[in-house]
Amino acid sequence: MGSMSETSDEPTVFSRIVAREIPADIVFESDTVIAFRDIAPRAPVHLLVVPKTQAYRDVVELAEGDPALLAELVATASRLAADPAAFGEHSGSEFRLIFNTGASAGQTVFHVHAHVLGGPLEEGTLAH
Ligand code: AMP
Repeated sequence: MGSMSETSDEPTVFSRIVAREIPADIVFESDTVIAFRDIAPRAPVHLLVVPKTQAYRDVVELAEGDPALLAELVATASRLAADPAAFGEHSGSEFRLIFNTGASAGQTVFHVHAHVLGGPLEEGTLAH
């Protein structure tokens, strides 16, 4: 339950998307997971797949606290990458999955989320 961190009661930006307080281009939603287009895409396709709970700040907490939910994120990413409604002309079996973990690694929203990137991606574009 994210007990290692000082989980704030303040809703995160992603919880506010779940609650429809902030608009987003939602491509998938289940009881436990939501996926929407990143507002500042850094690839031809750039989705975020997010557990609805904000109990886990990052993927390490999620893996420790609810591995089944982490597996669900990965399965959701895979399904979306295969879905022309989400991945458009880039739909297929291939995608890049990124979990920024910690501020110095580029994490800005401390509500665990997977970046799902698609389209032609060069190996050299992984990081600066
Ligand atoms: P990270 O830097 O890994 O924490 O990723 C946070 C991501 O959330 C960034 O890629 C932002 O562009 C994205 N983001 C922040 N606010 C929104 C929003 N309201 N709707 C969609 N994406 C957002």
